[in-house]
Formats: sequence, structure tokens, C-alpha cells
Amino acid sequence: MLSFKNLDFTTHKFRQLCSVIADNYTSLTMTQYLTAGNDLPERFLLMRHDVDGKAGPSLRTAIIEKEFDIHATYYFRAKKNIYVPEIIQQIEGMGHEIGYHYETLSDANGDYEKAIRMFKEEVERFRGICNLRTISMHGASFSKYDNRDLWKVYDFRDFGIIGEAYLSLSENLNYFTDTGRGWNSKNNLRDFIPGRTQKFTAETTDDLIRLIESCELDNLYITLHPDRWTSTPLRWGFFWFQDLAFNLAKKSFRMMRK
Ligand SMILES: [Zn+2]
Repeated sequence: MLSFKNLDFTTHKFRQLCSVIADNYTSLTMTQYLTAGNDLPERFLLMRHDVDGKAGPSLRTAIIEKEFDIHATYYFRAKKNIYVPEIIQQIEGMGHEIGYHYETLSDANGDYEKAIRMFKEEVERFRGICNLRTISMHGASFSKYDNRDLWKVYDFRDFGIIGEAYLSLSENLNYFTDTGRGWNSKNNLRDFIPGRTQKFTAETTDDLIRLIESCELDNLYITLHPDRWTSTPLRWGFFWFQDLAFNLAKKSFRMMRK
């Protein structure tokens, strides 16, 4: 019989993933990684979270990670119900890093001056409540603007930002993302690191766990969306259906753009 414990993308499965990670890797926050120079641990993990939906579920993953002494980096969008100072500060207090999941170029409909103005304001808003050093772009799937393009015109370092989660990282990282409910999903229009090819693949979280246990990877860069990892079967069913619909919509959107 199918039990909830066997389902993927649940809090239970996340805990299993954290356990095997803690046994095999030293976790680094984005800032620790970017400032380490040649001093990187032999085997390390970057755990990045893009908080796209509600902020609340991030507390769940943050607490589990803390249990396993994993230091992650949480990127919050500057939107209602996502930018929630109390939650952000609690997560930072657990030893995780807080970053800004920016999308001002798509929000400004491609108006670069407006986008950088908004970016500056949001950076200041984050700095009012936490220590902000790094950013990651939100891949606005249905916008024709790629938020990273802002950095073809401006420099995020001018705003005291030391790195961007897509642009500032080495190509030698083994990247895995849960976007589209499957690791390394092809349902993804923008969620990849430019220029790199993936040697290792995983479909399910169990695949990823086995890969970690095989000790073949000396580093791991995981992007995980906490609001997609559910703790109740009903919500799991809801997200399963929502992801299916979303992936179909993206597929037709991609065909339209061809
Ligand atoms: Zn996002």
C-alpha cells in the first residue's frame, strides 16, 4: 500500500536527505563558500533555498537542518507573505544565511533604471532586518525578461553584495534542483548555471541519497524550494497537481517561443 512515508518531496524525505548529507559533507553558506578562497573543505555542500511561495514552510526545513548542523542559505522574494521579518530573523538566528531572491527586472517590465532603483530599495529593506551579502535571481517563468540581465548593465558589488547564486559560483559544482518535482528537471527554463554540463543525474530524492552515499561527488550544490516539501498528504496532492499543471503550461509557453 502506498503510504505517505514513501512519497517524495515530503518533510520525512527531507529529513532523510539531511541525515545522509550530514554524514558525508561539510555544509557552507553562500558567503562562507564565496569567501573561502582555496580553503574549501575536501567535501562540501551548498544548500540553497529559493523561497518562492509562503515563508512559513521555510521554518520547517530550517529547523530540520539545524538538527543536523547543516548551514543553508535562504533566498526570500521581497513579496507579501514571503518577506516576513519575524520568520527571516528566526531562520538567520538558527545559523543560516539570508539572501534576497530578486526579480526587479521582470517586475519593472525591462525598465533597467526602474529595476535597479527597486533593487536598491529592497536591499536596504533586507539590511534593516538581517545581514544581507548574497542574492539569487527569481526565474520569472512567464516573463520575457531574465532578471540576471540586470548585471549586464549594473554591478551588484556596488550594493555591498558579494555574490549571485547563478553567476558567482564555480562551474565545477554538482548542481541539483527540485524545480518541477524531480531533480535536474528538464521542465526548467532558467534554473540552471550557464555554461555547465551535468555529469550526475537523479530523478527522485532516493536517487540523490544513493548518489551521496556512493561518495562519487566531492561537492554538492542543492537548490530546494521549501514550500514544495509538504508535511501532510493533502498538501502533497495539491502540489503534485499544481506542478503538473505548471509544467504543462511551461511546455506550451516554450513551444510558443520557438
Ligand atoms: Zn524563485
